[in-house]
Amino acid sequence: MTAQILDGKALSASIRVDIRETISKGIAAGKTAPGLATVLVGEDPASAVYVRNKRRACDETGMVNFHKELPADIGQQALLDVVAELNADQAVHGILVQLPLPKGFDYDENAVLQAIDPAKDADGFHPLNQGALMQGTPAPIPCTPKGVMALLRETGLELSGKHAVVVGRSNIVGKPVSLLLLREHCTVTVCHSRTQDLAAVVGSADVIVAAVGVPELVKGNWVKPGAIVLDVGINRNAEGKLIGDVEFATAAERASWITPVPGGVGPMTIAMLLQNTLEAAWRTGA
Ligand code: NDP
Repeated sequence: MTAQILDGKALSASIRVDIRETISKGIAAGKTAPGLATVLVGEDPASAVYVRNKRRACDETGMVNFHKELPADIGQQALLDVVAELNADQAVHGILVQLPLPKGFDYDENAVLQAIDPAKDADGFHPLNQGALMQGTPAPIPCTPKGVMALLRETGLELSGKHAVVVGRSNIVGKPVSLLLLREHCTVTVCHSRTQDLAAVVGSADVIVAAVGVPELVKGNWVKPGAIVLDVGINRNAEGKLIGDVEFATAAERASWITPVPGGVGPMTIAMLLQNTLEAAWRTGA
């Protein structure tokens, strides 16, 4: 293997220590502890694990967690009422409604995201904040893309003028990460399921961000020697092992830097959620 590892576990741990110290100093100086509200609807096991990890991270940094566990059939209006209550609560600075909402109950996820006060939008999914991202004005940035950019900065490499290829165009990863790369003056190509000759497009990249959800779709021999590879994918193989969207071992033979799965982009998402909440709290002068 020639690539250096971009260690998201270590970076996220150090960011969390910084956040804990900032909060502790802020509280000593008379500020209010930042508050993050987590809303879990239903009992999907994966969502329950994600929310548990977010709540634990919150506690460890000295933030206050306001948790709402709601039945799967609570219904759209009652869920909107919970969001309205959290919007009005001055002790809550960040709100996160865990997605996806339960299937079969007619939820409108977009309406729920739009109901969150944009200033408390810890996930950065509100359309106003996504618009601000497009315009390059300050606003909460979606956590996983923000984590990808923090990892990229760790390489210390100049991004300006580099060709970045993003595989995936979702609203939560592919599109926002593309805008952030553009902000760093990369030349950005966004690929998706209709892209022709994906291998050739990926092969022309200096920076590859894979956010597809297809195990090892990006083959190691596609990677241009020296490219930086960021693998957002979280998939389980037949043996139940976590693997990414990139064929790690072969890609690591050619890349200059690469994120592992697990331990790469994944841990950064929670660290960025905490950062967004802290920024939201103290932007309002709490
Ligand atoms: P989505 O399913 O919303 O989007 C997947 C994207 O990949 C789509 O744009 C789709 O194209 C594209 N795609 C699918 N198949 C192909 C293909 N064969 N070739 C090229 N493009 C393809 O996924 P998300 O963005 O939500 O998540 C992507 C991955 O990242 C998943 O593994 C998810 O688990 C993981 N993830 C990890 C996070 C973390 O914290 N590390 C956070 C969020 C997600 P089209 O638009 O044409 O359908």
